Amino acid sequence: MIGQGTWYIDDANRPRAVAALRRGLDLGMTHIDTAEMYGDAELVVGEAIARRRDEVFLVSKVLPSNASRNGTIAACERSLARLGTDRLDCYLLHWPGSHPLEETFAGFERLREQGKILSWGVSNFDVADLEAAWKVGGKGRIACNQVLYHLGERAIEHAVLPWCVEHGVAVVAYSPFGHGDFPGPRTPGGLVMEDIAASHGATARQVALRFLVRHPSVFAIPKASSVEHAAENAGTGALRLTDAELARIDAAFPLGPRPSRLPML
Ligand code: NAP
Repeated sequence: MIGQGTWYIDDANRPRAVAALRRGLDLGMTHIDTAEMYGDAELVVGEAIARRRDEVFLVSKVLPSNASRNGTIAACERSLARLGTDRLDCYLLHWPGSHPLEETFAGFERLREQGKILSWGVSNFDVADLEAAWKVGGKGRIACNQVLYHLGERAIEHAVLPWCVEHGVAVVAYSPFGHGDFPGPRTPGGLVMEDIAASHGATARQVALRFLVRHPSVFAIPKASSVEHAAENAGTGALRLTDAELARIDAAFPLGPRPSRLPML
């Protein structure tokens, strides 16, 4: 349920990032998310998973500007080379772009036939995008939709999450800590998180992750660049929240009205 994100990593922070990913793997956070967009992140992931490839559920993403049929295939091959592997467990279209989905999905299917990807999915797709993708891709093809989801941004709960549940598409919550904007411990919402955390001997971030993955279709991929942060995030695994605690968090971070467009980072 809890995996690991990656982001732009400069050379100075590379050893720390590799160590954090490896600690996360040791502690069961085997879903690792990266993208061709994130600079050298794929090289860092490649270093972290070297000789451990079979432990990992490895995900990368093609940029929409590369997502023609042949462009998708070429982008995937470049990602595989950077990651030092022969296959991705899942390959995503990073967000809806201008290449027709027929093209992108034809590229995905060719990669799947070749064993270079084992499944494929999408990211930042709203319901209308998902409907279109379902029509083009066919039943059961879209493995997941990776979307922005954190305490302060729950828009997916209006329609995207219900659509994905109905169609058997997993939801992967990106930026689950608000991309570095996690509620401070002295804010009203932060106090609620701290209070619930204290009663479990847990941390506010662990409570937040558990809240986000309370639905069985939802995974979360926090990014951590230290072994301490990775270990804390992995510690979410054993935490269970009561219905009353979930209701307190729901009230402290209300859903809000449905936005006209699905928010993305
Ligand atoms: P995030 O995971 O919400 O937040 C990352 C921030 O939280 C970093 O500053 C990190 O600090 C900090 N952090 C993590 N664990 C912590 C802990 N236990 N205690 C204190 N601080 C902690 O933000 P994100 O990187 O935007 O999102 C996560 C992943 O989602 C990305 O890495 C990427 O894989 C994916 N993503 C996908 C899309 C998309 O369009 N599909 C967009 C954005 C992100 P340290 O680095 O110091 O540990």
